[in-house]
Amino acid sequence: MTFDAESVYATLLPRFGRRLRLHEPLARHCTFGVGGPADLWLSLETRDELQWLVRCCLAEGWPLLVVGNGTNVLFGDAGVRGIVARVALSDYRLVEQEDGSALLYAEAGISWPKLLNELAAQGWGGLEFGPGIPGTLGGGVVSNAGAHQRDLAQVLEWVEVLDVRPALALGNGRGAAEAEGQSLQGEEAAAPLVRRYERAELELGYRHSRFRAGRQVTFDERGYPQPAPRTLIEPAEIVLLLAIRLRRDDPRKLRALIEEYRQHRKRTQPPQPSAGSVFKNPPGDYAGRLIEQAGAKGLCHGRACISERHANFIVNLGGARAADIAALIREARTRVRERFGVELELEVELRGEWEIA
Ligand SMILES: Cc1cc2nc3c(=O)[nH]c(=O)nc-3n(C[C@H](O)[C@H](O)[C@H](O)COP(=O)(O)OP(=O)(O)OC[C@H]3O[C@@H](n4cnc5c(N)ncnc54)[C@H](O)[C@@H]3O)c2cc1C
Repeated sequence: MTFDAESVYATLLPRFGRRLRLHEPLARHCTFGVGGPADLWLSLETRDELQWLVRCCLAEGWPLLVVGNGTNVLFGDAGVRGIVARVALSDYRLVEQEDGSALLYAEAGISWPKLLNELAAQGWGGLEFGPGIPGTLGGGVVSNAGAHQRDLAQVLEWVEVLDVRPALALGNGRGAAEAEGQSLQGEEAAAPLVRRYERAELELGYRHSRFRAGRQVTFDERGYPQPAPRTLIEPAEIVLLLAIRLRRDDPRKLRALIEEYRQHRKRTQPPQPSAGSVFKNPPGDYAGRLIEQAGAKGLCHGRACISERHANFIVNLGGARAADIAALIREARTRVRERFGVELELEVELRGEWEIA
């Protein structure tokens, strides 16, 4: 794949202006604070922009990686080739229903903690369990984010996605097809589709949705994590809009609950940069407990450490590399397997270029 970043930058600049950046350090755009450069970085503010960019990438064969707030990703030290676009679509509206509930139609790029404060002030409950989940709602659907015995599945009605799979199946768009000497049957045939998934179709489970199927991080024979293979447009189903069921509640009660959850986080989670829980909890147990009992709490590699406050958090002390975090993931996972026979699964997702020595 050849991607001429300077020339694509020049093509996109008139449309996106200062929101487009060349060779942008991804460490600035994820809560781990690590990761090399994206060839191009872009923030998308409207559905039209997103659809237009996806069509361009398909037609020209430009690789595109779509992210949200970067609170659940670990970007490689070599960065990401092609374009990394942040979904920053953030409109929402509330429609009251006859039964006294309301449907919230929220664009995928809205930040969960910001939105729930606005909803609580208006006396609408349903999302108040998420003040400690710093991601977007779109990213939240992908992992069925949750906390305090609640998750998105309990309030989500449906989502609308941009489905690029039919276009990718036609040969990765015109650019890629031409490079392989094929011809496409016209632009219409390769157009991405907007489709809706009802909650029952989303396969929502513990930190899981249909959007994660087939995208799990794997581990090589030495125990180092490896990112899932990448397609030209990644992910191939991009969440655009969510419909969420809200209920009437007392604003004071909602605010008190939000504050209680915030304080709980402060007490139990480390203050340094992290991506939250690194591993999923195995059935009937806690990853943090197993890591601690396996003697890995407090271990450091370079400027990254397994937190003393919560062993399922890896923190960046300042200046850590993605490779340091990967080494700690390997260490914690290996020790837990050797001591308890449990294979921990990653909760965070690896993205970009990984060359682990
Ligand atoms: C301090 C801290 C505490 C946390 N606590 C919790 C917690 O209690 N519970 C919990 O569940 N999580 C927690 N997290 C993890 C994280 O906030 C959630 O997983 C969040 O939902 C990720 O959203 P994001 O927008 O940051 O996604 P990103 O990290 O940007 O992306 C995650 C994945 O989703 C994909 N993606 C993002 N947006 C879209 C979209 N619109 N369409 C399709 N794919 C998309 C990306 O490609 C990537 O693969 C915590 C993180 C931190 C830093």
